[in-house]
Amino acid sequence: MSTIELRKLTKAFGSFVAVRDADLSVSAGEVVCLLGPSGCGKTTMLRMIAGLERATAGDVIIGGKRMNELPADQRNIAMVFQFYALYPALTVGQNIAMPLHYEKLSPADSSARVKRVADILHLTTVLDRLPGQISEGEKQRVAVARAIVRDPNCFLFDEPLSRLDVELRHTMRSQIKEVLQGLSKATVIVTHDQLEALTMADRIAIMRDGSIEQVSTPHGVFARPANVFVASFIGTPQMNLFEADLKASAGGTADVTFGGAPLRLQTDPAVGRLAPASKVTIGVRPRGLTPVSLAAPDTITTAAELIEPMGAETLIHVRGPNKSDLRVVVPREKRVAIGEALHLRCDPRQTHVFDAQGQAVRT
Ligand code: ATP
Repeated sequence: MSTIELRKLTKAFGSFVAVRDADLSVSAGEVVCLLGPSGCGKTTMLRMIAGLERATAGDVIIGGKRMNELPADQRNIAMVFQFYALYPALTVGQNIAMPLHYEKLSPADSSARVKRVADILHLTTVLDRLPGQISEGEKQRVAVARAIVRDPNCFLFDEPLSRLDVELRHTMRSQIKEVLQGLSKATVIVTHDQLEALTMADRIAIMRDGSIEQVSTPHGVFARPANVFVASFIGTPQMNLFEADLKASAGGTADVTFGGAPLRLQTDPAVGRLAPASKVTIGVRPRGLTPVSLAAPDTITTAAELIEPMGAETLIHVRGPNKSDLRVVVPREKRVAIGEALHLRCDPRQTHVFDAQGQAVRT
């Protein structure tokens, strides 16, 4: 069975801990993206799974078998790197067939396998060309074909699309996703591109400073971020996050002060468990702030400072009561002038409350 399990996986380089106590399970056919800012430990984690880096502590279990002591070439893992070096003097077909070299297949079996993956990745017409004679997108597909031509225990991808231009990335994301869906293998993809993670992953593991902060579905990390870091990392434009003082909360209604101004919010009932006078961080997605015509206890009164058309929508920057910058996204049809007073209501489905430690408060 193609599965990957990491238990308390840790990697230290001298006194610097690059990955700390990582627990992660990837089931057969599942695609998990490791997502996080530069230097958070994504590649180190992938390299430990691959056997290219030795774990300082914890276990790497692949297909139910502990792999810690096995070298990379005995783990039967297919890996696609950011720099998918193809052999320039070999044809596309020969490049794809390379990993089969060690399997001692007959030439007929080998070419049947190459033909099958070339079909899947739409490379049939370029099999006889050299890498210098195909496009970047085709090269990327050859790298994937080379990985899937064997029957590996699992797949690891390290920033597989980062060298492609925006349009090609878009096409390749869906193509790779489609290919992976047909293979029933546990797959881990490293990326720092949240769009890539949101579109390709079944689940996303969000990392910061060597630790996994949250593992959830793309919808889960967006709609139910576990903490302030995940909330700020996922979503474009970024979630508005502002500090507030909790005055009282009961039955899903919380009264807070934000920059000295009172504000009533519809929140998760769990906020009622916080002590009155607690410091909290309120998070509201820019699309969760709706301009309404009149000021009310549940609105934030601000004025539009900067207006950025984004096509179908408009991004408005406003100044919150504590002078922080807030972002509001409205449909293009909503006309707003600079300096115009705005009364913004927080959509309860897009309003999050985080405690003084930055952890989400919810049932
Ligand atoms: P990026 O997105 O920039 O590739 P990343 O999340 O993949 O970053 P890693 O490459 O895993 O991050 O690195 C995590 C941390 O470990 C970084 O601070 C890096 O400098 C450090 N690191 C990685 N390899 C080594 C090494 N061989 N020796 C010392 N420190 C290392």
